[in-house]
Amino acid sequence: MTRSDPRRRIPRTDHLLADPEIATAARRLGEQAVRGVVRDVQESARRGDVDPDDVLGVIRETLVRRRVGTGRSVLNATGVVVHTNLGRAPLSTAARDAVLDACGYVDVELDLESGTRSRRGVATREALLRACPAAGDALMVNNGAAAMVLATTALAAGREVVISRGEMIEIGAGFRLTDLIESTGARLREIGTTNRTHLRDYAAALADGDVGCVLKVHPSNYRVSGFTAEATIAELAELTASQGVPLIADLGSGLLVPDAALPDEPDASSALAAGADLVIASGDKLLGGPQAGILLGDADLVGRLSKHPLARAVRADKLALAAMEATLVGPLPPVAEYLHADNGRLRQRAEAVTARVGEGVNVVPHDGRVGGGGAPGVPLPGWAIALPEQTAKALRVGTPAVLARVHDGVCLVDLRCIPETDDEILAEAVAHALGVVRVSGATG
Ligand SMILES: *Cc1c(COP(=O)(O)O)cnc(C)c1O
Repeated sequence: MTRSDPRRRIPRTDHLLADPEIATAARRLGEQAVRGVVRDVQESARRGDVDPDDVLGVIRETLVRRRVGTGRSVLNATGVVVHTNLGRAPLSTAARDAVLDACGYVDVELDLESGTRSRRGVATREALLRACPAAGDALMVNNGAAAMVLATTALAAGREVVISRGEMIEIGAGFRLTDLIESTGARLREIGTTNRTHLRDYAAALADGDVGCVLKVHPSNYRVSGFTAEATIAELAELTASQGVPLIADLGSGLLVPDAALPDEPDASSALAAGADLVIASGDKLLGGPQAGILLGDADLVGRLSKHPLARAVRADKLALAAMEATLVGPLPPVAEYLHADNGRLRQRAEAVTARVGEGVNVVPHDGRVGGGGAPGVPLPGWAIALPEQTAKALRVGTPAVLARVHDGVCLVDLRCIPETDDEILAEAVAHALGVVRVSGATG
């Protein structure tokens, strides 16, 4: 290397690591990962691929874009409240704080008063029972599917699970409830037809079968209309009680009490009042909490499930328990807020963002959705900012990432599921994305 060799200008590792921005990145990503990036960029400079004077800038830029894992935060501008691809329910501030606190050592299985071991997650259980007093006991597990596996394994392995052909559902990503149930060793006893299943069909199955439980599933993501019939929970409860067979209601959506905005959506309190012995629901759909499966109902049944060996394999982790408790006892979670967002306010916000973005952009009526397989076909009337279709991609890959809805060749930005405090950031993101689209349009 001669004195004039440009490679002499490549900054030394210790100098680079002392740079405040790089040091901050090291706290976020770990020393080793940051050293790796520094080494790679220095190496590129030695090869002549990066100008030695640009080394610091290239390292900084690389580190800014590097994130831990896949949990990149996204502004949900789709109007879909429980968005499966965006991790379903966003947690409330109270739930986020509770998660942060629970990251350390916590009393998840300890009674601090007596110093002895306690049942896991007692506070969450109490919060569930307060929110749904109709339940004799409550158990939280990993997710709705885990709740279903635990219940059918404990109550019906080697025996029959009676289910209507009109309720044999497939949820997103090819997940079939029926496959899940059969994987537990229970036998499916399909009764009725796709559109009509009567109480007498259940009675016939109970009369001649070896039935572990009767399962009533809320077909959350589709509707059967026209010439239809089904037995209600109340009708079924009378029948199953007389035979001593447990009646399980899989509600999916997670409403604990009725919501006037969603009149057709079932809720745990009503299902239990109607006579279901056990209710199964997800924690991260309409309940607005963390991923969880909620089991509510008869104290003896819930006790049997809690003591089953499988319960250990599907148990909720301490972070989810903390988040669920805070969701139940704290302020309304974002899901509830977004579901009931005021139509006029949504329009005002959309117009305010539009005014900041500039010419050629208008606000149009737009229906939001419940999503997550809940309340199919129920529109949530609101407004969206209509943009050229290509803006959607620019918004997605921007910072922050914004997911809009593309419909009929238009990119629609719906503010329903965006916290009002983020409106300014959204306006900047939209303005930037429009700029990108206009420039790339101009140059072909
Ligand atoms: C969503 C849903 C499930 C599965 O719950 P997960 O929490 O996603 O595991 C089961 N049954 C019904 C009716 C559902 O809607």
